[in-house]
Amino acid sequence: MSGTAKPVCGVCGAAARPAFRAPQPEIAPDLDMRPGEPARSTLADWIQTCRRCTAAAPDLAALPAEARAAVESADYKELTTSVLEETLPFRRWALICERIGDQANQAEGLLQAAWAADDAAAMSEAAHLRAGVAALWAGTTDIEIGLRRLDVLRRAGAFEEAASWADTLAGRTQEETATAIIRFQRSRITMRDLGRHLISSAMPPPAHAPHVSHGKRATTGFWSRLLRRS
Ligand SMILES: [Zn+2]
Repeated sequence: MSGTAKPVCGVCGAAARPAFRAPQPEIAPDLDMRPGEPARSTLADWIQTCRRCTAAAPDLAALPAEARAAVESADYKELTTSVLEETLPFRRWALICERIGDQANQAEGLLQAAWAADDAAAMSEAAHLRAGVAALWAGTTDIEIGLRRLDVLRRAGAFEEAASWADTLAGRTQEETATAIIRFQRSRITMRDLGRHLISSAMPPPAHAPHVSHGKRATTGFWSRLLRRS
């Protein structure tokens, strides 16, 4: 698309808004990397829905043509009546990603749906969505995704699987921050704690409450700072 063209939906060509840009977080993220405020409470703005064709994406203009088959599928239409309304845009985005083979964004979409369910106090819906995210991330060898999966399993109430995954991760890394997070998660798992915790809660005192540096993207910048520290 040229710089001056107005964005249009990649599926149907209807006019679309530019992608939402969340404000920089000023508070530490949760252990599953949900960003802190003020970004946190803008969740409902992260996914746009096309008014004409109901395609859903962070950036409708970036949707590839292959997304059309997903949007027109019976599974996609059924979401409208079968899922919690607050989670619908994220579920739609996740389904599109599934159908176009983008498993990474499928998992992120489902996790964002779980956050929307958290905010709506829909606990069983949130747990169900997290179970889906954990399944998509089951084969990961990435330590950041692995640590997020640990939180996802615990908050889904899959405590035995979470404990076993904590052992797997502990065998893969000696890195100081990762080790602190695994230790913290193990204590929460033992307590059968389903709750939300900030990454800063898992840090030993000298690294307590690290703040996100200016101008960096919320998640990747934060993690690379954390995991590079040792
Ligand atoms: Zn459209």
